[in-house]
Amino acid sequence: MNMNAKKVLVIDDEKPARTMVVRALERLGVDSANIFQAENGRVGTDLIQKECPDLTITDLTMPEMDGWEVLAWIRDQYKPSQPQPSIKVLAMSGYVEDPGGATKRLTDAGADGFLAKPFRLETFFMVVKSLLA
Ligand SMILES: [Mg+2]
Repeated sequence: MNMNAKKVLVIDDEKPARTMVVRALERLGVDSANIFQAENGRVGTDLIQKECPDLTITDLTMPEMDGWEVLAWIRDQYKPSQPQPSIKVLAMSGYVEDPGGATKRLTDAGADGFLAKPFRLETFFMVVKSLLA
C-alpha cells in the first residue's frame, strides 16, 4: 500500500499524544509533510477544509470543539451520497468506561473506528492500514 501519498490529520489537545500518533504514522510510512496536527476540533475542521485528509484521527475529550462535534461536523459536510471526497475517521479516547458501548455510539455518530488509549502500536498500525486501504 502506498502510504506516503496519504494525508492524515491528528486532532488531540494533548501534545504528547499527538506526537506519539504522528511518530506511529511516520513509522507506517506516511510522509511527514502529509501529517497535519490540531489541538482542538475547531482548528481541526479548518484543516479538514483546507487539506482534505484521507483519514482524521481525533481525540474525544477536548476544549472548544470535542471529538463528537468533529464527527457531527464531518458527517454533515461529507455525506456518502454526495459527490465529495470521503473522509475516514478514527476516534480515540483514554476516558472510556465501556469501550463496547463507546464503539457503538461512535459508529452511530459516523466514526469508522475506535481506539482506547493507551493502545498497542501493532493495533494502531492494523487499524490505520485498514482505514487507508
Ligand atoms: Mg483530550
